[in-house]
Amino acid sequence: MAIERTFSIIKPDATARNLTGAINALIEQSGLRIIAQRRVRITRAQAETFYAVHRARPFFGELVDFMISGPVVVQVLEGENAIAKYRDIMGATDPAKAAAGTIRKVHANSIGENSVHGSDAADTAANEIASFLPETTSSAKASCGGVRGFGASQPALRACRLIGY
Ligand code: ATP
Ligand code: MG
Repeated sequence: MAIERTFSIIKPDATARNLTGAINALIEQSGLRIIAQRRVRITRAQAETFYAVHRARPFFGELVDFMISGPVVVQVLEGENAIAKYRDIMGATDPAKAAAGTIRKVHANSIGENSVHGSDAADTAANEIASFLPETTSSAKASCGGVRGFGASQPALRACRLIGY
């Protein structure tokens, strides 16, 4: 199995209870590596797009309100079989049904306020990473390689230095 990347969100119920470190300890103990991370407030439009697949579900409005109710931590995780591995350590959507020792079993409040998100497939992982942490994508890396050439603007060079390329 190849090294993969997946997208993780530490949701507002968890940041509100100071659980960022405790959740990331479980992620790191699993062997997954946090290779990018940012604490942000997402907009209503971002939340609606992110969970668009659930637009027709009765809980959609509540889900969007919850996701914008406080800060979240968006992260890229990397490792062997990262997408399935992270889903395993997150546990089932409903914490009451999650396996012992999983993030949701240990920390989640309820099926709605369930502390973490993880991508469910390779295509969603790639799209989610490109939406929330675009500086980690290979196209960002390639364009930074390009701007290093003669004549690149100072702001462009500074931006690339800031993101480590
Ligand atoms: P996520 O996509 O956040 O990683 P998931 O893939 O385990 O979670 P989904 O079925 O994609 O679960 O549901 C997306 C989110 O919608 C859940 O994480 C939860 O916050 C919310 N949700 C799902 N089912 C319900 C429900 N029956 N009642 C309330 N909220 C729900
Ligand atoms: Mg999902």
